[in-house]
Amino acid sequence: MALVVQKYGGTSVGDIERIKNVARRVAKTYDAGNQLVVVLSAMSGETNKLVAFANEICEFPDTREYDVLVSSGEQVTVALLAMCLKSMGYKAKSYLGHQVPIVTDSAFSKARIEKISEKNMRQDLADGTIIVAAGFQGVDRTGNITTLGRGGSDTSAVALAAALKADVCEIYTDVDGVYTTDPNICEGARKIDRISYDEMLELASLGAKVLQIRSVQFAKKFNVNVHVRSSFNDNKGTLVTKEDSEMESILVSGITYAKDETKIAVMRVPDKPGIAARLLSPLSEANISVDMIVQNVSEDGYTDFTFTVSKADFKKALLITREAAEEINAKDVLTDESISKVSIVGLGMRSHAGVATKMFDTLAHEGINIQMISTSEIKISVVIDAKYTELAVRVLHNAFGLSNKDVQPE
Ligand code: ASP
Ligand code: MG
Repeated sequence: MALVVQKYGGTSVGDIERIKNVARRVAKTYDAGNQLVVVLSAMSGETNKLVAFANEICEFPDTREYDVLVSSGEQVTVALLAMCLKSMGYKAKSYLGHQVPIVTDSAFSKARIEKISEKNMRQDLADGTIIVAAGFQGVDRTGNITTLGRGGSDTSAVALAAALKADVCEIYTDVDGVYTTDPNICEGARKIDRISYDEMLELASLGAKVLQIRSVQFAKKFNVNVHVRSSFNDNKGTLVTKEDSEMESILVSGITYAKDETKIAVMRVPDKPGIAARLLSPLSEANISVDMIVQNVSEDGYTDFTFTVSKADFKKALLITREAAEEINAKDVLTDESISKVSIVGLGMRSHAGVATKMFDTLAHEGINIQMISTSEIKISVVIDAKYTELAVRVLHNAFGLSNKDVQPE
C-alpha cells in the first residue's frame, strides 16, 4: 500500500462537473489500494475575485483579514469534494489548515510553514479515510489564519507529502507536465519526462508557471518526488526529482523567457570605488531587486553601469537612479522598456564547455543582438530586444536539439 498525495489546481476543480471528475480519479487511486491525501486549490478565478474584493473595500486591506478572506476559496472546494466522495460511499473528511494543523509564521499573505503535525491525519488514514485538505492555508501560533502566497497550494501539497513521508506527490494541473519551452510560441516544445529540482527552480523562477517556486525548494529539501501531470487525461507527466547521472548528459533541458524586465543604464560615471554600491543601495532600500548587472569601464576613466529591474518597479527605480546618478556626476540615464530575457537551463552545462558559445552563435546567426549576459552553473541568460523573443526561443530550442527527443547534441 502506498501513501499518495494528490493536489488538484483551480482549473481541475473549476466547476461542479470537474469536482466530480476529481472525485472519480481520487476514488480510482483509493480503490487501487492506496492511502490518500488530496489537496485542493480554490475554483479557478475564485482567489482573484476575493483579492479584488479586498482591494475594492479599501486601499490597504489589513493583512490578517486579507488571509481570512482569500483562504475561503479552498474551504469551498474541500467541502464539495468530501461531500461528493461520501455520497459515492467513500470515507472522506475535509481538513482546513488549522485542523491539520499546518503551523506557519505570522507573515500574512506570504506565510512560511514551520511545522505540520501528522497525528490527526495518520489516525484518519489508518481508518481508511480519504483526507481532503485545503491548500494555501495555514495557522499561526496564536490561531490566526494565514496563507502561503499565490500558488501556495503546491507548497501545501509538497509539505504534507514531506510530513507524511508520502511515496509520491502528484500535482494535477491543466497541462501534461513541464515543457522544454512555451508550447504557445514554439511548436516543437515537448514534455520533459524527468527534471532535477535545481533545473526546475531555474525554470520556475523564469516563468514556467506550473509549480510555485517555494514548493520546489521544499521538495528539494525533503526529497519529495513531485509528479506534475494533467487531471484531464492519464498521460505520464513530468517527474521533478533528485538529480542523477543521466540528467547530466543532457546539455539543455529547457528554454524560458521573461518579458517583464526593463533596463536602466547610467552613462559615463567617473570610475571610482563605491559606484556600484552608491547606485544599488538606494534601490535595495526601496525593496527593489535588481536582476542583471553589467559594468563597462573605458580607458578614459569612465564607466557605464547597466542593470535590469522588473516592469512593476521601473518607475520608482528610475526616479531613485536619476537622483543617485546626479550625485555621482553621471552624464546621463538611459532606459529601455522593450527588452526580454531568454535563458537556457541544464545540468549538463556544468560538465560541457561550449554551451554559451553555441547559444551566442545561434543568436548571432539570426542577427539578434545580445545586450547583457549572465550565467550561473546551470543557466545562461541573455537580454535582447523584446521583438526577437519568440525567434530566439525557437532557434535555441532547435539548436540544442530539444524539438526532437532522439537528437541530443554532444
Ligand atoms: N488559490 C490560491 C491562488 O490562487 C492558491 C493556489 O491556487 O495554489 O493563489
Ligand atoms: Mg498553481
